[in-house]
Amino acid sequence: MYTGGCLCGAVRFEIHGGIRNIVECHCSRCRKAQGSAFAANGIVEAGDFVITRGEDKLTGYESSPGQVKYFCKTCGSPILSRNAAKTGQVRVRLGTIESDIVERPMAHIFVSSRANWDEITDDLPQYDSYEPGR
Ligand SMILES: [Zn+2]
Ligand SMILES: [Zn+2]
Repeated sequence: MYTGGCLCGAVRFEIHGGIRNIVECHCSRCRKAQGSAFAANGIVEAGDFVITRGEDKLTGYESSPGQVKYFCKTCGSPILSRNAAKTGQVRVRLGTIESDIVERPMAHIFVSSRANWDEITDDLPQYDSYEPGR
């Protein structure tokens, strides 16, 4: 089991299962949502993601049709996103997980949108759109 939470501690969650398809997304929306060079997101089965505290402290923003990014109302930590077309899964922002995780990123996506100061120095596959199969 993995545990995590937001910066101020109001929102706490547990992940009772694995994380798959971890990607580092360099698209402009993710960069703004994280305030950083990229977002590190992974898929968790919706039933495996349990908010143990502060569900009422989460608020959402529909960043593109059907896709809502949820973050803490108090501290702004981005926690997860939900897609109306894929209700069986959530996409968790890996930086909010406090446990050591065993899974590893599989790819960089939307690399054509990356910030001009951002240099990719690892050997993971790079895609100009979503990773194959999404
Ligand atoms: Zn918070
Ligand atoms: Zn993105």
